[in-house]
Amino acid sequence: MRYLVTGAAGFIGSHLCTSLLERGDEVWGLDDLSKGNLKKLEHLSKNLHFRFIRGSTAEKEKLRKIMQETDVIFHLAAVVGVKWYVEDPVKVIQVNVCQTMDLLELAWQLGKKVIFTSTSEVYGKNAEVPFRENNNRVYGPSAADRWCYAVSKSAAEHLCFGYLRKGLPLVIVRYFNVYGPHGDSSDYGGVTARFISQAITGKPLTVHGDGSQTRCFTYVEDIVEGTIRAGLYPEAEGKIFNLGSRRETTILELAQLILAISGAKGDIVFQAHEEFYGPYYEDIPRRIPDLSAAEQMLGYFPKVTLENGLRTTIDWQRQQMLNGKA
Ligand code: UDP
Repeated sequence: MRYLVTGAAGFIGSHLCTSLLERGDEVWGLDDLSKGNLKKLEHLSKNLHFRFIRGSTAEKEKLRKIMQETDVIFHLAAVVGVKWYVEDPVKVIQVNVCQTMDLLELAWQLGKKVIFTSTSEVYGKNAEVPFRENNNRVYGPSAADRWCYAVSKSAAEHLCFGYLRKGLPLVIVRYFNVYGPHGDSSDYGGVTARFISQAITGKPLTVHGDGSQTRCFTYVEDIVEGTIRAGLYPEAEGKIFNLGSRRETTILELAQLILAISGAKGDIVFQAHEEFYGPYYEDIPRRIPDLSAAEQMLGYFPKVTLENGLRTTIDWQRQQMLNGKA
């Protein structure tokens, strides 16, 4: 098998490439390096079964040629990160919707299976937790830019179902707050990488709001395992799977846990959401997955505890800092 991973130099993409190669498969990784970074793929540079192609999903002819020569496509290329949504909704829609539509159209023309990586964000602020795959999606007003990401991934899911009906083999996975090595610790990254970076550089951890909002943090290795299972199990075709963990953690608890595990002496400071994201932001109070579909159909059981995952991630971020790469 030869797999194409779009967004290969991104956080999850780089781990997915590594795991697919470990299975003995051949992988082509596509990334325009606009947000991704080749450092995340450095360890694969001598792997003869891996080929990195610098390019964008916007380059249709290039994409067609690449897709012609690959068997299955894991489509991860996307604009991800809350600060991007509020800063550049146009780009979010362009990449996550328009370019995904082009990719699906090509896949359909060429008869190639697609695994589309979606997000827990599609459930929005629905208060009915845990979220089952067929739950309602509840969003705020379009003037609140945060929702453009949820809407973009939702629209892409609709496109997926449209192409599925036309005969394209396809699976959708929805990720719940993924963390681990290779995560982006800048202002544009997820909360875990940011807190760790703040802790190990002796800065105060910036908890937004009162920190009572919850997420279920999922270690990247578990996510990758679930993604590969969803991609390879024939009975998964045409379905959506939540991939996450069941442990509900408040953001304040996360900050405290990171301070305890890292041994950092830093403080916790509280910051209003608007101060960080600007006025067009709305937070999601609770986000918990129902994992029964993934468990029953894929045998997906997340293995890495939050403590162990954080330990590994903290070690990795420390190492990056020592190497001057952070
Ligand atoms: N958050 C925080 N401090 C930060 C970054 C994020 O308290 O420095 C909060 C954020 O407001 C949200 C939660 O952590 O309530 C998760 O944010 P993230 O950006 O990781 O993704 P989300 O789950 O909102 O998509």
